Amino acid sequence: MGNCQSEPVQVVVEDCLDRSSTAVWDDATAAKWLPKDVHQRFKECLMTGEPTRESDRAVIAEAMFKWARGLGATDFAHWFFPMRGGGGAVGGCVGAFKMDTMIDLEWSSPEANKPFKATLPADRLFQGETDGSSFPNGGLRVTHSAAAFTTWDRSSPPMIVDKVLRIPCSFVTHTGKCIDDKTPLLRSSDAVHREGLRLLTAMGMAKGAKAIHSFLGWEQEFFVVHAAHFKARPDLVNCGRTLIGALPTRNQQMDLNYFGPVPDRVERLMVILKEEMLKMGSPMAVRHNEVAPAQHEMCPIYSVCNASADSNALFMEIANREAGRLGLQVLFHEKPFAGINGSGKHANWSMGTDTGLNFFHPGKDDESRTIYTTAIACLAHGLCQYNELMRCAVAHAGNDHRLGAQEAPPAIISLYPGQGFEAHVDSIIAGGALLGYKAEKKMQSTGCKASMAVEANSEDRNRTAPFPHCGNRFEFRAVGSSQNCSFPVMICNVVMAAGMAHLADQLATGKKLRDCVAEMYKTNRHVIFTGNGYSAEWPEEAKKRGLPNLNTTPKALATFNCAKNKAIFQKLKVYEADETDARAEVMYENYNTTLAIEAKTMIHMMETGILPACAKDLQKYTNCKALVGDREQVYGSIKAGTQKLKEVLSKVPHSIQEEATYYCDVVKPQMVALREVVDTTEGLLESGLYPYPTYETLLYSH
Ligand code: ADP
Ligand code: MG
Repeated sequence: MGNCQSEPVQVVVEDCLDRSSTAVWDDATAAKWLPKDVHQRFKECLMTGEPTRESDRAVIAEAMFKWARGLGATDFAHWFFPMRGGGGAVGGCVGAFKMDTMIDLEWSSPEANKPFKATLPADRLFQGETDGSSFPNGGLRVTHSAAAFTTWDRSSPPMIVDKVLRIPCSFVTHTGKCIDDKTPLLRSSDAVHREGLRLLTAMGMAKGAKAIHSFLGWEQEFFVVHAAHFKARPDLVNCGRTLIGALPTRNQQMDLNYFGPVPDRVERLMVILKEEMLKMGSPMAVRHNEVAPAQHEMCPIYSVCNASADSNALFMEIANREAGRLGLQVLFHEKPFAGINGSGKHANWSMGTDTGLNFFHPGKDDESRTIYTTAIACLAHGLCQYNELMRCAVAHAGNDHRLGAQEAPPAIISLYPGQGFEAHVDSIIAGGALLGYKAEKKMQSTGCKASMAVEANSEDRNRTAPFPHCGNRFEFRAVGSSQNCSFPVMICNVVMAAGMAHLADQLATGKKLRDCVAEMYKTNRHVIFTGNGYSAEWPEEAKKRGLPNLNTTPKALATFNCAKNKAIFQKLKVYEADETDARAEVMYENYNTTLAIEAKTMIHMMETGILPACAKDLQKYTNCKALVGDREQVYGSIKAGTQKLKEVLSKVPHSIQEEATYYCDVVKPQMVALREVVDTTEGLLESGLYPYPTYETLLYSH
């Protein structure tokens, strides 16, 4: 097991909350409530992967029960993350619960009026069973063998939410196949641990490190609208995004919103969220307005990747619970509004040892610099050799509206380690030493007396890159705002572990580290790109370099379960071949279902909202033909466009791959064409007749 409990975070926030107000069973809580030896053995099991012994389980369950009861918990729930197949879910990809009560029958009690006792039996804390036949499983489970099991991810802390002790769990079938997002992430963390230690040992630089962890700090972007407006729009309710709507004249042209004052009610929501997340052991680091009107961002302090992914799912869930209490609705969709910025979830990702060494921090001594240069070679190898896989990590219907637009990284996956580092790579390829790159800060004058010179990083940030280096981590910027982080971070771990495994194998043959690293950079040089990812030239250049440009979900998904990907998943013990196939199937299903719901919602809105409004509008001109103008023709084309959409929908092919391509190439363009006329119509209709809250109302009503 490559995971360990996230370190307790020192909490210092302005409203004086501190650790004593948290309701999370983290390592510090466990240390307080468990006998020393039980706690020690629990942690050792996390390192070795051994089961927690039965007697310890009983002690842990009893201690956790007392702790949770002391904080008012009355129920407990296994909290797990069925593979929903990507993002795009209305409200975001949050988890599922198997709720249970902390009451059990007192079998031994002879008294008829006292048959119950409050308890948390160890076997139910550590494992649960559910009829999982309604969860997406990609063919891994047949209807007549429905049992599925939840089992505590011992490296992610339980917490109390609304009087429910929540236990983060893996979710597997009767035969141990993963049908969730968490289990593959945990397996990938194990792979990082295994291959990372093997590599460090081969380099002679393990220096007492016992574990390698991967870390995640997510930046969650989202929109907040009035709940009443949300409910009045069938497209938002059913699809999480608007299918029609013209931009207000003031949208984001003047860049006024970014970091601007947050509207009062949203500020209240964010403060509540900060407090709630802190109670759950996840201190939020950042909150601010984002670029588009009504768009915001929050992000926590990073932690081990699985616990951080859980905290993100919790964040999305609590955000909508609290928003509802304030009459608001949070939109986690990647593109709720056309024409203004969409939302991403940058996954700040790094890895390092339990002794505090960060692979992605250039470091101050020769050894850490060597590790840094070597680690980036491994990453370049992974990103280049499994380039399509990385693209699949963020492929779903919602993200297709975002990737490749001038606000998000392109759909081409490249690595941005910095321009200075790129030059260093070329020098290594040309025969130079691994050492020689120094990430020294530079002082830059502000040009005035009052403001002192700024200390600038040696490398600039590159917001146009899908995978830029950010000082001590990489930021996978292509992740969609509604996604569960587990899947994309699992793929980050896999590509990195693949690179580390490759290098460790090379070193095992007796080759020199410098030569192996140089060879890796040479082979994968074309994945490193430090220019402008938004430029028109980049797709051309990427094509010349042979980098894929999988600009739609169906194109990306067609590569997911290819032989090469299956082999690496299997080698790293992350997915068996059938689990890879299952995941592909679920992603296809998710895409197709999303598009089907969108198309049907659009037809419904045309027939019950837009077309009747058009008819009413036209009626007003029966005595004044001069003002009819284009109206008859434009409104007529909505009718025709709706008809056409129905027709194309009736011809959807049957195989899931063909279906996805058809939705993408035939249904979607028809929706776009129809939308165009409807948005023109919005400018023609008498204002009171538009049947839904307009963009202006949605974006500016806080
Ligand atoms: P940005 O400067 O990109 O806007 P933010 O400060 O909004 O960054 O978010 C940065 C995120 O990266 C935070 O969640 C932070 O805790 C996280 N982070 C910082 N260092 C690391 C690291 N070594 N590994 C993973 N995440 C990190
Ligand atoms: Mg960032």
